[in-house]
Amino acid sequence: MSSGIITVSYIAASALFIMALSGLSHQETARRGNLYGMLGMGLAVVVTVFGLVTNNLTFLIIGIVAGGYIGWVLAKKVEMTQMPELVAILHSLVGLAAVFVGYANALDHSTALTGVEKTIHDVETYIGILIGAMTFSGSVAAYLKLSAKISGKALQLPGRHLFNLGLGVVSLYLVFVFIEQSAAGGGTGVLLLMTLLALVFGVHMVVAIGGADMPVVVSMLNSYSGWAAAAMGFMLGNDLLIVVGALVGSSGAILSYIMCKAMNRKFLNVIMGGFGTPATSSGGGEGPAGNEGDIKPIEAEEVADMLANAKEVMILPGYGMAVAQAQHIVYEITKKLRDKGVNVRFGIHPVAGRMPGHMNVLLAEAKVPYDIVYEMDEINEDFPDVDVSVVIGANDIVNPAAQEVPDSPIAGMPVLEPWNGKSTIVLKRGMSTGYAGVDNPLFYKDNTRMLFGDAKDSVDSVLKHLSA
Ligand code: NDP
Repeated sequence: MSSGIITVSYIAASALFIMALSGLSHQETARRGNLYGMLGMGLAVVVTVFGLVTNNLTFLIIGIVAGGYIGWVLAKKVEMTQMPELVAILHSLVGLAAVFVGYANALDHSTALTGVEKTIHDVETYIGILIGAMTFSGSVAAYLKLSAKISGKALQLPGRHLFNLGLGVVSLYLVFVFIEQSAAGGGTGVLLLMTLLALVFGVHMVVAIGGADMPVVVSMLNSYSGWAAAAMGFMLGNDLLIVVGALVGSSGAILSYIMCKAMNRKFLNVIMGGFGTPATSSGGGEGPAGNEGDIKPIEAEEVADMLANAKEVMILPGYGMAVAQAQHIVYEITKKLRDKGVNVRFGIHPVAGRMPGHMNVLLAEAKVPYDIVYEMDEINEDFPDVDVSVVIGANDIVNPAAQEVPDSPIAGMPVLEPWNGKSTIVLKRGMSTGYAGVDNPLFYKDNTRMLFGDAKDSVDSVLKHLSA
């Protein structure tokens, strides 16, 4: 394949990736955005494999088919609720690939570079392995946290900032040692030591971040995986990989920034790792937030009556709606109520569920019209006019402790405020806490009623009564 065709194809693929990102920024155009992304990646892979690779093609194709098959099976099998874990573990593979490419680069002595060129090449290799190893171990730790295989609580070692700083300083020093040793034909030992430090840093950074702050970690690792890919692009001299890596890296960084704003956290603290306060035993950290006697259960029939007689209804979905897969029946209820003239709106918290945009995806899947789905900031002021707020499998995102309890682990996080409305109905199975492990005073408030049970069974029952 001529270099002209390769260059044109790479420019076309880059354009498709930019169009993909632009499409993905709006719900209406997200499908199209996905399609552009797939086309861009397809083009990039075909042109790279058949245009650039000169030997071991059979080996490469076997790898692509095997990897593609595993990806296909995983994507078919994975439940919507396991998506964040899958994304985290896929990020780890990008990091691992960067580490392998870095070592291959370092051990390949076929290119006889000298002087500044050699130094730049060594620095690229070093940074590629560093970011790759951090992304790999951090993503594995995030996977273990998100899948509840290890505790979601923040593990904050004493002197952790000093420890991080120490790791940073040693890594910086080692780059000079590596450049020196590499010039003499060595340096592998230094690279191995740096890899070890980067692996430790990745784990330490993620485990230090507490439950409710995990959304920022997910988007931050997304960003890191992009920079790891860009580093690979530099090592391999592949412009497309640099462009794609930079796109993923910067969009992940912007998403992290948006998530930080949504959680009222500082971006810099996230970058340094170890932000979010550990759960404390005093105040609203742990233990019930009210008396058992204040919990007021309600039956589905009464909920149906309340909804049918309301003028303004606000539905606030959370992770439990995803677990129960209740979104389709929720939309059936919405249609019934709208037919009766009730104004039904959906309020979406930026970190509801377990990944950015989780609730929007579920509602889009159920074909809920976009114009009745609102961001938290757009509707939080409207609660005083809302007759019935229906909290479906949500907990942390509607927890008043964020405002009322100063030493709560979620203190300062903006939340949806249904308690300012006339009445709230909470659908959940029991009194368990949410992801952040903080009890919720909302469940004990005077104008809150609890509809206990699996969210799907509960909404199904409400729908039956509405239809009766
Ligand atoms: P939460 O995890 O706070 O609460 C979910 C609630 O749903 C639980 O209290 C649970 O209570 C209930 N539930 C679970 N299964 C069912 C079911 N089948 N039927 C009915 N209820 C059910 O979810 P939120 O969406 O309110 O908050 C998201 C949390 O996740 C935040 O802390 C956020 O920081 C964190 N997070 C978000 C990410 C993101 O990117 N969006 C990524 C990582 C973490 P019970 O067991 O009693 O039924």
